[in-house]
Order: sequence, then C-alpha cells, then structure tokens
Amino acid sequence: MFPRYLVKCDPATLSSHETDFLIVGSGIAGLYTALKAVTYGRVTILTKRKVSDSNTQLAQGGIAAAIGHRDSPTLHLQDTLIAGAGLNDIEAVKIMVSEGPGRVEELIAMGTQFDKIEGALALTREGAHSRRRVLHASGDATGEEIRRSLFDQCKKHKDITILEGTQVSDILRNREGHCIGVVAWHAEKGLHKFCAAVTVLATGGNGQLYKYSTNPEVTTGDGIAAAYRAGAEVMDLEFIQFHPTALTQKGIPPFLISEAVRGEGAQLINADGVRFMPKYHQLAELAPRDVVALAIWKEMMNTGASSVFLDLGTMKTSDFATRFPMIYKTCRSFGIHVPEEKIPVAPAAHYLMGGVRTDLKGRTNIPRLFACGETACNGVHGANRLASNSLLEGLVFGSHIVEAAKPYLTKKPAQEIAHFPSDQALFETLPSGEEPCEAEKVAQKIQKVMWESVGLWRSGDTLKKAHRELEEISVEPALHGTVTRAFEAANMLLLGQLTVRAADLRKESRGGHYRVDEPESRSLCCATLFKYCNRLGALRIKKEWKQLGLFGSEVRELVSRALREDIGYGDLTTSSLLPTQITTKAFIHVKEEGVIAGIDVAKEVFLTLDPSITFEAKVEDGQKVKAGDVLAEVSGTARSILMAERVALNFLQHLSGIATKTARCVEKITYYQARIVDTRKTTPGLRVLEKHAVRMGGGKNHRFGLFDGALLKDNHIRLAGGIQQAVSQARQSIPHTVKIEVEVEDLTAVTEALEAKADIIMLDNMSLDMMKEAVRLIGGKAIIEASGSITEDNIVEVAKTGVHFISMGALTHTVKALDISLDVEMIKKGNRHGQTGDSESAERSL
Ligand SMILES: Cc1cc2nc3c(=O)[nH]c(=O)nc-3n(C[C@H](O)[C@H](O)[C@H](O)COP(=O)(O)OP(=O)(O)OC[C@H]3O[C@@H](n4cnc5c(N)ncnc54)[C@H](O)[C@@H]3O)c2cc1C
Repeated sequence: MFPRYLVKCDPATLSSHETDFLIVGSGIAGLYTALKAVTYGRVTILTKRKVSDSNTQLAQGGIAAAIGHRDSPTLHLQDTLIAGAGLNDIEAVKIMVSEGPGRVEELIAMGTQFDKIEGALALTREGAHSRRRVLHASGDATGEEIRRSLFDQCKKHKDITILEGTQVSDILRNREGHCIGVVAWHAEKGLHKFCAAVTVLATGGNGQLYKYSTNPEVTTGDGIAAAYRAGAEVMDLEFIQFHPTALTQKGIPPFLISEAVRGEGAQLINADGVRFMPKYHQLAELAPRDVVALAIWKEMMNTGASSVFLDLGTMKTSDFATRFPMIYKTCRSFGIHVPEEKIPVAPAAHYLMGGVRTDLKGRTNIPRLFACGETACNGVHGANRLASNSLLEGLVFGSHIVEAAKPYLTKKPAQEIAHFPSDQALFETLPSGEEPCEAEKVAQKIQKVMWESVGLWRSGDTLKKAHRELEEISVEPALHGTVTRAFEAANMLLLGQLTVRAADLRKESRGGHYRVDEPESRSLCCATLFKYCNRLGALRIKKEWKQLGLFGSEVRELVSRALREDIGYGDLTTSSLLPTQITTKAFIHVKEEGVIAGIDVAKEVFLTLDPSITFEAKVEDGQKVKAGDVLAEVSGTARSILMAERVALNFLQHLSGIATKTARCVEKITYYQARIVDTRKTTPGLRVLEKHAVRMGGGKNHRFGLFDGALLKDNHIRLAGGIQQAVSQARQSIPHTVKIEVEVEDLTAVTEALEAKADIIMLDNMSLDMMKEAVRLIGGKAIIEASGSITEDNIVEVAKTGVHFISMGALTHTVKALDISLDVEMIKKGNRHGQTGDSESAERSL
C-alpha cells in the first residue's frame, strides 16, 4: 500500500497562501488556463523550477489546427481518431479540433510569432496528418515561442502570481472531500500550504519514468501521483508514446530529432549502413511513430548497436541550419557536424496519453480539483497521440475548466482546511540532502526497470519481472537525498507500479501499448481506471467500456437500456416471492458446443443491476466450449441474480451465436487465402458488440460504419456519373490513409474499377464463373472482396475462386442463439422482517 502523503506535517502550523485559482505547472496548459482564469479571480501559479522548465519549452514540430483552406475540423478529427486506435473520446476530439483554430488565432493575437511564407502562415504536414495543418515558430522552436508569449501576457496581470522553485508534494482535501489546495516545498521557505477555491493540475506527463526520455528532468508525473494519492481516478497509464528518433550519444541526455526532419527526406539507416524502413512499412520513414520506433528497436537488436542513424544527405531542404536551428545547434554542440554527419538516434519515452481522469470540462472526481494538459486524460488522444495535438489540447481545455470552476469561487479557502491524517506519510521528516546521490540512485533504478521491462514493447513475463523489481525498490535511502529528487523518486515508484499494473491488465496491443505476447488489438476494449482507496488501503481497479471510441455511447449505456427495458418499474414475480436477503450462487452453463462472446457484457449486466454481485468468469471470449461447460459463477442476492438473468443471457446467447457461426465459416475455408468479414447488416444499436463477436469467432471486421471506410456502391456510382468519376471525386476529399472500395456487378465494371485504381473491388452477387474471371482480370492489382448471397453452403466454392475477403451479412443478421442457461443453488436464507421496498437498491443503480 502506498501512503496518502509524501511527508508528515501538520498543515495547521504551515504558513499559508490563499488564492482563487491555484494552478500547478507553467507549461502551455498552466499558463493559458491562468490567463483565462484571471478574468474571474486571483491566480497563483506554482512551478517546480523555472517557468521555462517544461515539456512545452522543448516542443519542436508545432501545433496542429485545421486552418488551411483545404482542411477542415472533420479531417483533423478523422486523423486524430485513426492515430488514437479506437480509444479516443470522440466528444473530446470534436471539441479540440473545432475550437483549435480559434485558440490558435488567440495565441497569435497574444503575440505568438508563427513562421510565415510570403505573409501567410506556414503550415507543415507531419506523419499521419492528411493535410498541412501544423503551425511552427522559429523553425523548430515552437514551444519556446508559445511559452514566451503566454508568459509575457501573464506578467502583465497584477493578479497572476508566479512562484518558481515551488514543488507540490500533496493535495489537501477537506471533510466533505473537496480539494482545498496543496502542500508544496521551497528550498528556502520549506513546506507551505496553498489554499484555493479551485486547484488545477497542469504538471505535465511522466516521461522521466524511463531511462531514455525526450522529456526534461521536471517531468516525473508529480501531479498524477499526488492526485492518485488524494483519491483521484487515473486512467490509461499503459499508453506511452515512444518517439522513434532521439539523439543518442553516451553522456548526453536524449534530445528529440523532430519527425519533420524525416518529413523533409532524411532516411534511417542501421549500424550496417542499410536503409531499413521500407521493409517495415509502405510509408517508410513516415510510417506512424510506433511503427518506426519498433522497427528501430528491432534493427538495434539485430545489429547489436546502441542506435541507428539519420542520414540527412537525402533531405530536400538545402539549408538545414535555418529550417531546424535548434537541432542544428544542439547536434553541433555535441560535436555532430550536421547536416554532413549522420545523427545517431534511438527511441525514447516521449508522451503520456493517460493521466488524471477528467471529463470534458477538466473536472476530476474530486470536487474543485481540475486537471489539464498532459497530466489530464479526457480521452482526446485515445491510445496514441497524433503529432502536434498536445500543444493544442493544452490550449483548448483550459477555458472549459475556468467556466466549470466559476461556481466554486464563492468558497472561502482558508476557513475550510480540516482533515489531514498525517500519520499516513511516506517520509517521517523532510529528506536531509546530506547525500544527494541517494535519491538519484533510487530514481535511476526505477528508470532502468521501466525502460527494460515496460518500454517500447512488453510481455506478461517482462511485466511480472518489472512488478517484482519495483516491489524490491525501497525509497528509504532517498531520505538522505535532496527533497526534490526524493519526492520525485517516490512519485516515480508509485506511477511505475501503476503503469505495470495497467500494462498487465491490457491483454492486447493498441496504440502506445505493444505486447509481444498479445500483438493483436481486440475489437471491443475498455479503459482501465485506478483509484486509490485510502480507507481500505487498497487499489481499486475499474474497467470502463469503449466501443471503438467512435460514438461515445458505451456498452454500459447499452446494458442499462436493456435492463430498463426488461425490468421497467420492478420485477413483479421475483419481488413477490423472494425476500431481499436470500443470497444464492448461480452457474451459467452452455448446452451445446460453440464459441463464446460477450462474457464481459454478461458480467456488466449483473454488476450494473447490483454492484454487490460477484461474477467469476470461467471462460474468455473467443474460447471454444462444449455442452455442459460452466461459463461463469454468479453469487449475490437471489432477487438481483434473477432480475439480471434474462438480459445477461440475451447478450451472451446472441453474441455467442454469432461467434459460433463465424467460427464454423472460418473453419470451412481454413485452407484458402480468403478471410471472412462482416458487414453493416447488424442489429440496430448492437453493432459494436456484434462485430466484436465476429472477431471472437475468428472473422475480421469490415468498416465499422460510414465514417471509417469508403465503399462506392451502385447508387453512389450512378449518381456520380460512373466509376471513374466516383473514385476521383472520393479521392479528393477522403484522407490518403483510407482505402477506396468499389462495388461491381459485371466484368466491364471490374475493368473500369481497375482503371480508376480502386484499392478494393467488391464482386457483388456474381456467379462463381464470373468471379473466377474477375479474379484473373484483377491479377493482384487490387484487393478482392466477394459479397452477396454467400452462405455456409457455398462459402467454400467462393473461397476457391481466389478472392481475398468474403463478406457475409448472414454472420450477424441470420443467427441462431447459442443455448445457454443459468441455474441457481440456494446457499443462505435471511430473515423476512423489515424488507419492504428493498429491491430499490438494485433498481436505483440502473
Ligand atoms: C522534446 C519534445 C518535443 C515535443 N514536440 C511537440 C510538438 O511539436 N507539438 C506538440 O503538440 N507537442 C509536442 N510535445 C509534447 C508537448 O510539448 C507536451 O505534451 C505539452 O507541452 C505539455 O504541456 P503541459 O502544460 O501539459 O505540461 P508541461 O509543458 O510539461 O508543463 C508542466 C509544468 O509542471 C511543472 N511541474 C511538474 N511537477 C511539478 C510539481 N511537483 N510542482 C510544481 N510544478 C510542477 C513543470 O515544472 C512544468 O512547468 C513535445 C514534447 C517534448 C518533450
């Protein structure tokens, strides 16, 4: 168990500073929020070192905003969602991309000097952006320029106080649980308390958890750790973006070599002098960050070298020093004579997608505690951040926080402080500083474990090892070290442990979380939340469903709706027969052979109805079962179990029916290259679950909806005036990352689709002979999908034609549910007195 506070103290005896808005951190998120907040009250900004010590200061590439005339927030949204690998909160992304252009204009009005070409803002394009939309300043010094202009504005306001060298250790709460400020440490002034009506954490990410990181020393995740200890939910800590190209040379800290250098034509070569990216990805050096980082890692392993190299000789720009002044200066200062010499590079930890969980207004689950910027996790980046979206995020959500915080400004901070059980502290006294290296040594041990076992790639085994090694690290020696580093080491240890736990729980690969033992992504996934329960001395883990991150209506809502539909005003039968205190154990078992899908959904049904139910799954989705197998054991009150039974079984039977049918089809064509895919012919509202079931049966998902794939069908083609016209019109507005599929019904249309360079050709309702001829005509120039009237009976013949995919609407629209039932076994009988109206608790939780 981790103690609630870092250091023991009595806040009543600490000198106090009062303010309306207390903002912790002086990066883009902190400074911008301060400028918004000062309209409504006094603002105090605390920052650990100098104002300029932040990730913001180091940002190179730029800030993304859809301001170009061929761009739009919708395209920016699409790019962000693709990068986010299904975990984005779409509402958060919508806010960011639609408000982004206005916020950037505001920055310009405040004096930020972005680079221009012939009087117009210069927009560059970075990896995975479909348009030129990245504004930059002084070539590669965007962050420094934004920080300068925001800080200049802050200095103009008499109601903004900035206190440097002030390191927050912990968050204070009152008896009602509200956040009322922080305890912070200053080298000369010692410990202080800062009380505020509203506290905003903007302490950045935790890149320093890793031995190699592009982040500055201050980025140790202090705010996230303090928030967690105070009871705030933290989320998605396993998603860490590793930048592929950080300058790597013995004795110097990693320094970021911007993606834009590769964008301008620089190539990656390994220690043997061989260019390697084309063999990993069709976009070669401009492949997504995680792909490039993993490729570099593999090349380093294969050659046994400690880096690969960026060859600048192939760049388009002739004046490297002007386009990349910061990189030029830094490399030269370390004796690397760019652009003539190659830059040794290796991946390094760069950005944390997770953090303190907030809603869209930056609210945490602790009243009056807000978070923004890299510290916060509102889901905007999903599992992987699109380049140059983080500075934008830092700008956009600050003003929402201020709006949401206004009602709290009437609170009188100083009179409220009450509750501080300081016996629960990690350090009895402040670290002495006698042996400064001691705290540093602890920090380095943590960084080594994280780098070696929880880095770019992980596995169950490396995570177990990391868990063990972190458990063995003691922070006690840090008591002799400096206060700053001792506090940081303690925060790093806590966050390291939580990250390992989160990475272990996510048994799949997605975005910034790559597991060699689970390389595939699952189609139904959930976010993992951690919450510290101080009274129980335990970590609480909560899973929250996400449905491919795209429409926000989560599985939980679906489950609640289904329960409401079934239970209505109450279960007449069960409540007339069963007193509430009768508890029972029930077994869910299957009566025929099949493949299971939806076991977690069934669990969600029981727990939504009654959180006190225990649901122990005995199988996992995708598992084959035979008649008589037990799928789960459910214990709790008999009333709740019987009330939830039907809805839980409806989901489980239906989804398992789909998985079973898919598995049968997949098995039939095992020996052919064709793969089975689903369609959009799903039950309204259930698509996310039905597509999940298809995957559990071994099938693949076609596009999820109209937004994630372009399929030109007969009516589109007719209205556009032909295949050629339809394809070329679609190409103009659809991002280059999205494939274009054309539906054809005869061989003439096949030829036209080939001439139009369709990426995928769908052979719709063709006879087997025509299909064979179409496959011959296409001759590998496009992906081929067979569709229309395909059943379990003719699927093998279709597969024999040589098509790549076979789409089957019947997988989801004509399905027989798998026979599954629930049987109860009574284990305890309670007394019947005083139980009127007592089914309420279960029903209220809907
Ligand atoms: C090398 C590099 C290049 C990047 N390039 C880009 C880019 O081109 N575009 C882009 O969008 N993003 C980029 N990023 C990411 C981006 O810079 C950050 O995500 C963003 O600046 C975070 O802003 P922030 O205000 O949330 O945190 P930060 O800018 O990191 O600020 C955090 C602040 O909190 C303070 N702090 C921390 N702990 C404490 C404590 N205990 N007490 C008091 N204060 C504390 C720190 O001192 C700092 O002032 C880059 C990051 C790096 C490292």
